[in-house]
Amino acid sequence: MIHNFNAGPSILPKTLFEQASEAVLNYTNSGLSILEIGHRTPTFQAVMDEAKVLLKELMKLDNDHEVLFLHGGASTQFMQVPMNLLSDKETAAYSDTGVWSAKAIKEAKLFGNVEIVCSSKESNYTLIPKDFAVPNDAKYFHITTNNTIYGTQWQKIPHTSNSLVADMSSDILSRVLDFNKFDLIYAGAQKNIGAAGVNIVVINKNCLGKVKRNIPTILDYRNQIKEGSMLNTPPVFAIYVCMLTLRWLKEQGGVDAIEKINNEKATTLYSEIDANPLFKGTVAVEDRSKMNVCFVMDNVEIEERFLQYVKENDIYGIKGHRSVGGFRASLYNALPLESVNYLVELMNDFAQKNA
Ligand SMILES: *Cc1c(COP(=O)(O)O)cnc(C)c1O
Repeated sequence: MIHNFNAGPSILPKTLFEQASEAVLNYTNSGLSILEIGHRTPTFQAVMDEAKVLLKELMKLDNDHEVLFLHGGASTQFMQVPMNLLSDKETAAYSDTGVWSAKAIKEAKLFGNVEIVCSSKESNYTLIPKDFAVPNDAKYFHITTNNTIYGTQWQKIPHTSNSLVADMSSDILSRVLDFNKFDLIYAGAQKNIGAAGVNIVVINKNCLGKVKRNIPTILDYRNQIKEGSMLNTPPVFAIYVCMLTLRWLKEQGGVDAIEKINNEKATTLYSEIDANPLFKGTVAVEDRSKMNVCFVMDNVEIEERFLQYVKENDIYGIKGHRSVGGFRASLYNALPLESVNYLVELMNDFAQKNA
């Protein structure tokens, strides 16, 4: 068995691959593949409807919040969000907690004023900023809830009277949050929800229709809401895989239940990093991400040896991002506790052999 710690696209529940393969070959015994039926058929509409209902249920969304399945990945939302929410002369507040935040900031500047109210750039993004104020008149405040590359996470969502917008690409549905507090949440599916090719947008419809600008038809959230994410052909297979993952998550007991397992996985790995003399964590302890665990060794040469050692032992995807180095173990929802225990065992063995 391969233990897949990849950062994204990443591990999905194993049972899902059988169902998805079956759907490609012969969808619900129709004699047709899910890939060759029209997106406006009742058959596909049922997939879209179920995915939406499941997401609303798992996130406990109220009736003001709409769910969209859109093309273009989370990166498209970097521009689509300000295009729909921020007028020319208005200001949006952003937090700068990593490369993804910085990319969101860059795009927002194309549409209005951006005030960076806090940044951890000076500390190489190894922490989440604590003391900062968001101007009352900022149209919205944008945070990246989990910083995939650096392994930091907002443990508490900041209190602010402003409208909240969040990039939750790498921790959506991993922990209980009051999702209704956010006016807009977006996430590429390929980390915790499904296959690459679709992103999820959750939006409070009351914040739409206020910008003074013409928005291209396909980029206007209102049109997508009206057409049920089917203004044009949606990424049908990616949405189908999302639906299967959401079904799986519900079977696991939903977000409450998966959060408990995620906490246990993170605690297990961080405890080993802190106890093992060969390894050390790279970020502020109180800001440690429960999804992406980053750690290094003192000696780059031993790092190479450890990487080789875990590779030989069926561990996949723990090489750190090139900007951080060392290792990154991603502990997304579908990764079983058993894989974390196994990695910890290898870290232990390696330390004993190299003491
Ligand atoms: C992966 C990631 C993105 C980029 O997602 P794409 O779907 O590839 O555009 C954006 N934000 C965060 C936090 C991510 O982890």
